[in-house]
Amino acid sequence: MLGTAPRVNAPPIPDRANRAAYRRPGGDAVTPASYFAALEPLLAYVKKPAQYVGGEHNEVVGDWTAAETRWLLCYPDTYEIGQPNQGIQILYEVLNERATAMAERSYAPWVDLEELMREHRIPTFSLESHRPLWAFDVFGVTLPHELGHTNLLNLLELGAVPRRSADRDVDDPIVLVGGHAAYNPEPLAPFIDAAVMGDGEEVALEVDEVVRGFKRDRHAERLTAADPRHELLRRLAGVDGVYVPAFYEPRYLDDGRLRRTVAVEPGVPAMVPKRTVQDLEAWPYPQKQIVPMTETVHERFSVEIFRGCTRGCRFCQAGMITRPVRERRPETVQKLVEDGVKNTGFNEVGLLSLSSADHSAIGPMARDLADAYEGTTTSLSLPSTRVDAFNVTLSNELARNGRRTGLTFAPEAGSERMRAVINKMVAEEDLLRTAEIAFSEGWRQIKLYFMVGLPTETDEDVLAIADLGIKTYEIARRHGKANKVTISVGGFVPKPHTPFQWAAQDSPEEIRRKLSLIRHAIKAHSGIKLRTNDPEEGVIEGLLARGDRRVAAAVERAFELGARFDGWHEMPTLEVWRRAMQETGVDLAWFSHRERDEREALPWDHLDSGLDKEWLWKDWQDAQSDQQLDDCRWSPCYDCGVCPGLSIEHDTGYTGGFQLPVLPTGLGGSSQLPTAPERYASEEP
Ligand code: SF4
Repeated sequence: MLGTAPRVNAPPIPDRANRAAYRRPGGDAVTPASYFAALEPLLAYVKKPAQYVGGEHNEVVGDWTAAETRWLLCYPDTYEIGQPNQGIQILYEVLNERATAMAERSYAPWVDLEELMREHRIPTFSLESHRPLWAFDVFGVTLPHELGHTNLLNLLELGAVPRRSADRDVDDPIVLVGGHAAYNPEPLAPFIDAAVMGDGEEVALEVDEVVRGFKRDRHAERLTAADPRHELLRRLAGVDGVYVPAFYEPRYLDDGRLRRTVAVEPGVPAMVPKRTVQDLEAWPYPQKQIVPMTETVHERFSVEIFRGCTRGCRFCQAGMITRPVRERRPETVQKLVEDGVKNTGFNEVGLLSLSSADHSAIGPMARDLADAYEGTTTSLSLPSTRVDAFNVTLSNELARNGRRTGLTFAPEAGSERMRAVINKMVAEEDLLRTAEIAFSEGWRQIKLYFMVGLPTETDEDVLAIADLGIKTYEIARRHGKANKVTISVGGFVPKPHTPFQWAAQDSPEEIRRKLSLIRHAIKAHSGIKLRTNDPEEGVIEGLLARGDRRVAAAVERAFELGARFDGWHEMPTLEVWRRAMQETGVDLAWFSHRERDEREALPWDHLDSGLDKEWLWKDWQDAQSDQQLDDCRWSPCYDCGVCPGLSIEHDTGYTGGFQLPVLPTGLGGSSQLPTAPERYASEEP
C-alpha cells in the first residue's frame, strides 16, 4: 500500500431491522447511497484501482426505483479473473432485458482494499453504481470451481449480510450460487440459501419471477406465512433446478460415511434435477459483452459455438455435467461475431466450447469467418481444441490475419494406456504427426497439457509424459532452432458427477514425486519448458469438491483464520486450512485420499446431473480395465441417462442430417417450441 489512506466518511450501514424500505419494489423503494465518493480517495492506496471504478463500455447502471427485483451478480475472485466470465455476462444481459429487473456485478476486493473497506466500513458494492450488497434482493454468485468459497464468505461479511442462511431474515438478500461447483454445494450448505444446477438462462428468469411475486405479495400484505423468509425459500425450491439446502438433511452411518441425504420439507423433490437449455438459438447472448476497464485474463469477444460435450473424458466434470451437445447454427455464430465486434471494439474473437473443433460445421464456419475478417485487424481463435491435423488446418484458417505463434493441445496423459483409462482417445502417432504438420506450416510453439495423479497411474505412465514432450521437441528442432515446446503438468483432482468420483486423490507429496520424475527425465533437453502447478493447490480444491456438509465447519474456520483467494500463489492459505481442518475435525485423508466403494452414498446423490449413477460406476470399472468409449454423437447411444431424462433424442449435429437443437420427444420440431421471449416474457403489472 502506498502511504496512509485518508479518513473517509462512508454512508452508514443501517441496522438489519431498518432495511425493508430499500427492498420495496419499484418507486416505493428508498435508493441506497452510492459508496463511490467514499471509495475513490482510497483507490490511490491499492493495487490495480481501475478494477473498482466501473464505467465500462456496455455496462448497465440499474434504475433502483424502476426495478421490482434487484440482482447483484458476483464472481468471487478479482475483476481480472472474473470480468470475462461468460455465465455472468449472459445472465447480466438476460436479466437487464427484463423491464422489471436490474442486475449489477461485483467481484472480490483484493486484500489491500478489503483492509481499507473494513477500516472505513465500506460494504461489498456493485461495480456499476457502488450500491451495497445488503440492499439487493438476490446475490447471485457463480462458482466455476471450489476455490472461491472463502471469498464468498468474505463478500457476505463485508456486505453486512449474515454469514449463515439460518441467521438471515426476509430483508436480507437471497444468496444463490450456480456454476460447476454448485453441483456439490454441500460444503457451502449453511452459508447459501439456494444452489442452481445447470444452465442459468431460463432458471434465472424463473427465480426472478418468484422473487418478484413474493415481494409483491409482501408489499400488498398478502403473505400469510408465519415466517416469510421460509415462505420465499419454499417458493424457490419449487423452481426446477433450484436446491435449497435447508430443506435437506444428511444422515450418517456410525462409521462416518453418509447414509443418505433426505428431504425434510414437505413438497420438495427427493432429487433436484439440473436445468438444460435445449435451444441455444433462443438465447443469443452475450450481444453486448462488457469491455473491461483494465487488464483481464481474456480480452476478446467470446461466442459460445456449442454447449455440452459427449467425448466422455472421464476426468472432465464440465463435459459430464453439461451433456448433451447443443450447437449454435453457423449463421447465428456469424451474426453474434459481427454484432459483438461492432458493439465492443474487440479485435480478437474466441469461438468457445468445451472442444470447439467438434462443432459439426466448424470447417465452413471457420472459413466464412476468416473470409469475412480477412485483411482486417480482427483475429479469430479456438481456445479449446483437439489433437489432430484437422485442428492445424483450422488454426491456419483462423490465423490468416495473425502470426502463427503457438498451438495448444491437451493429450492429458503420456501413455496410450493412461489415455485409455481417462478415455482421451489420442494416439501418440496422431499427436506427433500433428506436431510435424504444425511446425512445417510455420507454427513456432506447441504447448502440451497433462495431468499426473490419475487413477491406476504408474511411474511408467508418468515418464511417458516426458517422453512425449521430448519427441515433440525433436520435431520442433528439426523445423527451426527457435521453435519451442512447453509441457504443462497439473495434479488431478477427482470431481463429483464423473466416473472418477469414487477415486482416491494423490497426496501432494506423491504429486511432487511424480513431477520430479518428469523434471529429471527432461533435464538433458533444456529447450523444453516445464510448467507445473503447486502440488498443494489441489488439496483445498479436492476437499471442497467431494466434501459433505461437515466440511462447512472447516470452510468457516479457514475464513475466520484469514483464508482468502485460495487459488492464488500470492496467498498461500494451505497452512491456515490445515489448522482449520484440525480444529473442526475434518479428516483430509478420509475425504480426499480414500477410494469409495459402489454402495457408499455420495454427498451429491440427491442432485441429479442427468447421469445415471449405475452408468458412472460402470464407466469407472471400464476405466480400470482400460476400456474406451466412443463419442455418442458419432456412435450408438451408450445410455448414460441424460437424453431420456430430458425427454429428447440425441442428434449428430447441425450437418448430420438432423436438426439441432435436439428435439423434445413428442414435438415435431424446434419450430413448435415457444421462443425464449414468449416463454419468459415478464407479466405486465
Ligand atoms: S443418453 Fe446416449 S446419446 Fe444422450 S448423451 Fe448419453 S450416451 Fe449420449
